[in-house]
Amino acid sequence: MPEGDTVWLTARRLDAALAGRPLVRADLRVPQLATVRLEGRRVLEVTPRGKHLLTRLDGGMTLHSHLRMDGAWHLYAPGERWRGGAEHQVRAVLGNADRTAVGYRLPVLELLPTADEAQVVGHLGPDLLGPGWDPAAALARLAAGPERPVGEALLDQRNLAGIGNVYAAELCFLRGVTPWTPFGEVGAPEKLVVLAKRLLEANKARPGHVTTGDTRRGRTHWVYDRAHRPCLRCGTPVRGGEHGPAGQRRVAYWCPRCQRGPVPAG
Ligand SMILES: [Zn+2]
Repeated sequence: MPEGDTVWLTARRLDAALAGRPLVRADLRVPQLATVRLEGRRVLEVTPRGKHLLTRLDGGMTLHSHLRMDGAWHLYAPGERWRGGAEHQVRAVLGNADRTAVGYRLPVLELLPTADEAQVVGHLGPDLLGPGWDPAAALARLAAGPERPVGEALLDQRNLAGIGNVYAAELCFLRGVTPWTPFGEVGAPEKLVVLAKRLLEANKARPGHVTTGDTRRGRTHWVYDRAHRPCLRCGTPVRGGEHGPAGQRRVAYWCPRCQRGPVPAG
């Protein structure tokens, strides 16, 4: 699942390619939008809100997209071969004379009045990479559920917006708690919020999510996606697995030596 910094970078690139110019091509390949004509409309801006992308058009319309698990927007020059996936995975094509943005595997693609954006992003907590980031408000929302497992609380976009599986796992590691530790039992929880902000800011302008400060292949994460491999701090094999109710399974990784707190049975 893309993290907030990936969405931020995607928005910045789309904005640079499309903003301020009219669309000469607009092809929305989802049934409910198949007949919508956006050609001729100018793109005002492409802006991220948590893990949501808002493409604002003149005439007061916003195209809302979300990448969820494996969606992506790619940019191409005229005549360049599209490489983001099979043709049937293309959900949206937005282009001007110089650049074409192609949205692949977008599970959410909808058009709504810009004035109604709150209907799709109004539920989000403080946005880690947004202009109005408010750490105290994020902490207050997290602290309102003291019994909730910290990993799950960090992933809940209503608490703070932008954290996905990678940062949830790495933040728990960096604070020395397992993802199942009740939030109310995490020491100095304000540090978790500060650290989340620092990690996303450090990574937003580049692909990847380096949490160790080490950009070498295989050394970018302390525990994420490292099941059975040695913890980069202590050498103990990292534990990994899925958890959560059916239908919303989540991956989790943790070091049984560096992180204290409850772990799933078995
Ligand atoms: Zn360790």
